[in-house]
Amino acid sequence: MACRMAAHFQDEESARLFLEHIRWPYGPICPKCGTLKKPYAVKNGRYRCSDKDCRSDFTVRVGTVFESSHIRLHKWLLAAYLLRSSKKGILSHQIHRTIGVTYKTAWFMTHRIREAMKEGALVPQMGGPGGGVVRA
Ligand SMILES: [Zn+2]
Repeated sequence: MACRMAAHFQDEESARLFLEHIRWPYGPICPKCGTLKKPYAVKNGRYRCSDKDCRSDFTVRVGTVFESSHIRLHKWLLAAYLLRSSKKGILSHQIHRTIGVTYKTAWFMTHRIREAMKEGALVPQMGGPGGGVVRA
């Protein structure tokens, strides 16, 4: 693994904080009701909505392509980055080798990320200011 690779590509916790920062620059927002009330931090990136009619539990993954997946978040971010930065289009096989997931998982990730890129559903600011993972 390249030592100069950003921490959010190597570590689940850094990946979560990175994603939270770009998705919620002013603090977590409940994806279900969208209340502006500050949610309770439960633990490990899990929040509970403080709106008395909602009380939903959520993480930064909810409402993104990373939702309902057991794949570590930093692996998702790296796969999305690789897919976005590759001009010719990266193959599932390369994702499998580079990220260290099974070929089947790599295929699933590639498929899901590509679909999200088409729909513009992937976190749009992920590429940093002015650049989007989704917008070509
Ligand atoms: Zn809520």
